[in-house]
Amino acid sequence: MNNKVFGNEQLVSTLEAMSGTGRTAHSLILYGEKGCGRKTIAKYYTKLLMCGNKSGDKPCGVCETCRSIDEDRHPDVSIVHKSGKLGGFSVETISDVARDAYVMPNNSSGVKVYIFGDCDNFDPRPQNKLLKLIEEPPDYAYFIFTAQSKSAFLPTIISRCVCFGVAQCSDDEALEALSCFGCETDDSRKAVDSFHGNIGRCLEYISDEELRNKVDLTKSLADSIINKDEYHLNSVIFPVSRERRDAIEILSMLDLLVRDAAVLGKDPDAATIGCCREHAKRLSEALTAYQAIRIHMHIERAKRAIDSNVSLPLVLAALCSDIIDI
Ligand SMILES: [Zn+2]
Repeated sequence: MNNKVFGNEQLVSTLEAMSGTGRTAHSLILYGEKGCGRKTIAKYYTKLLMCGNKSGDKPCGVCETCRSIDEDRHPDVSIVHKSGKLGGFSVETISDVARDAYVMPNNSSGVKVYIFGDCDNFDPRPQNKLLKLIEEPPDYAYFIFTAQSKSAFLPTIISRCVCFGVAQCSDDEALEALSCFGCETDDSRKAVDSFHGNIGRCLEYISDEELRNKVDLTKSLADSIINKDEYHLNSVIFPVSRERRDAIEILSMLDLLVRDAAVLGKDPDAATIGCCREHAKRLSEALTAYQAIRIHMHIERAKRAIDSNVSLPLVLAALCSDIIDI
């Protein structure tokens, strides 16, 4: 099961072709939304590089090497720990990786892999330090970076990496994946209704009550907008004013619903990407496309204000009144 990558067929076959011809990239950037499979693909590439299967397809997914990579316990595959400010990597960590990378691997594949996950807050200083290492890596060393966007990296780093976008898969593929993970059909359907082909987010939805509550809260916000009820909007959004990250997450989900409403206003059969098609449909009946765009702009502005440390209750109260005034 772990060996299967859902969706992203073209990316997977490019990686397979690279390994088949021996022209493997030493530094890889996998970028895309969190939960859409960046880490799974990073591990798939690692298994392609290291799988011990001599006859038949690689990666086999069942040999000791493949299994130990899947279970994060292969001694020559390092998931580099976060150490810098805001969950980035410190200069010291990069120095440690560089030192370690010059120690020969001790396994039959003769390969060593370093995976740097979620590089979204990677400071320029450690990146510059990293540059030397990926410019002239030891023959056996590989470096894989994941981030939401390529722009998390310095242009000098990007120019030395092969970059691939990772996309979420289709709703059907997500349902198949969730069933392979042993999720109940009912739970899987609800999860895919909310998070579509983002398997990571779907799994999180099924296992994490907090995320389910956030989805419900987002739908309540949409209800208040549909009913033009500022009091309700304020009272629903108030509990969010304690935690910046939660506020950003809920506003992002609301933004997607508003985006869907604008799209459905033009084409009622269009595909939606937000957490509830039904709410998007009702929003599209309550708002003109122009109003939806205005709400989107207010949400964007509120998110920027939250990012730049403006008082959270203040930002949310202003947003509520802006939304009702559109
Ligand atoms: Zn294998």
